[in-house]
Amino acid sequence: MQENNNDNDFSIFWIILIIFTVILGCRTFVYFQQEPIKTSDAALYVKPEINAKKECSLTKNSRVKVLKHKYNWIYVKTDKDKYGWMGTWMINPNYHNQINKLSEATIVIDAGHGGEDSGALSTQGKEEKTYTLRYAKQLAEKLRKAGARVYMTRDSNQTVSLSKRPELAEKVHANAFISFHFDSSPQDNTASGFTTYYYHKNNGSFRLAKDINSQLTSLGIDNRGVDFGNFLVLRDNSQPAVLLESGYINSDRDFSMISDSGYQNQVTSDVVKGLKLYFAGKNENAIIANDPN
Ligand SMILES: [Zn+2]
Repeated sequence: MQENNNDNDFSIFWIILIIFTVILGCRTFVYFQQEPIKTSDAALYVKPEINAKKECSLTKNSRVKVLKHKYNWIYVKTDKDKYGWMGTWMINPNYHNQINKLSEATIVIDAGHGGEDSGALSTQGKEEKTYTLRYAKQLAEKLRKAGARVYMTRDSNQTVSLSKRPELAEKVHANAFISFHFDSSPQDNTASGFTTYYYHKNNGSFRLAKDINSQLTSLGIDNRGVDFGNFLVLRDNSQPAVLLESGYINSDRDFSMISDSGYQNQVTSDVVKGLKLYFAGKNENAIIANDPN
C-alpha cells in the first residue's frame, strides 16, 4: 500500500515536470522568434509607409515577431499581441530586410535645381531644371513599373532646398538616391561627356556609382566614368547616393543629346539596369578589388 502511494507521487512529479518543461520550451521558442526593439522611436503603423497613421508607440526592449515584409517595412506581432507595420530601422539601426532585387527597393530620385533655381543654362538659354525634372520623372516611371517604391524630392517646377533632398533619403531609409544634373563648363562648347559622382566610399555609394556607370555604354557622348564629387546631396547622405551629370548643357553637341528623347530614354534605361545590377550584388567582388581605398 505504502509503495503504491510513492509510485503515484512519483508519476505526478514527472507529469508536472514534463508539462513545465513543455511550457518553458514553448515560451523559449516564441521568445527567440522575436526581435528585441533597440530604438526609442519604434511605433506601429497602419500601413507600411512613413506618412501612414501611427497606431501606438513601442517601448525599448519590448519584443516583436516579424510576420512579413514589404520594401523596408515589416509586419509584426508584439509581445502584447498587437499587429501592425514598422520600419526595419525601428528595430535597431542595423536591422535590414535583405534587398536583392529592384522590386524590393526604396529609391529617392532627385531632380536637381527647380523653382527659383534654374541651374545652368544652354547656349540658347534653356534651363537645367527643366531637363533634370524630365529625366527624374521618366526614371521614376520606369522604376515604379519594375515594382520599386519611388520618392521624388520634387515632381514639379518648385524650389526645394539642398538640405531637404538628402533628408528625404534619410527619412524613408532609401536603398538608393539618384540625383540628376547637367554639367556646365566656364566657357560654352569647351567640355563634353557624362560623369557619375559618389561621395562616400563605404556606404554603397561607390559600388552604386560603378554599377550604374558600367551600364552607360551606348550614350553617343563620352562616358567620363566614376568620380568623387563633393556635393551636399551626396555628402550629407548616409544612404547609397550618386549624382549623374548627364552631359554638358552649355555644349551645343551635348545639349542636342540632352534635349533628345532617345538619349533621355537611353540614360534612364541604363540607370534602371545599373540599379538591377547593384541590388543583385553581382559586381561586388570586382568593385571591392578596384576600391580607391
Ligand atoms: Zn546642376
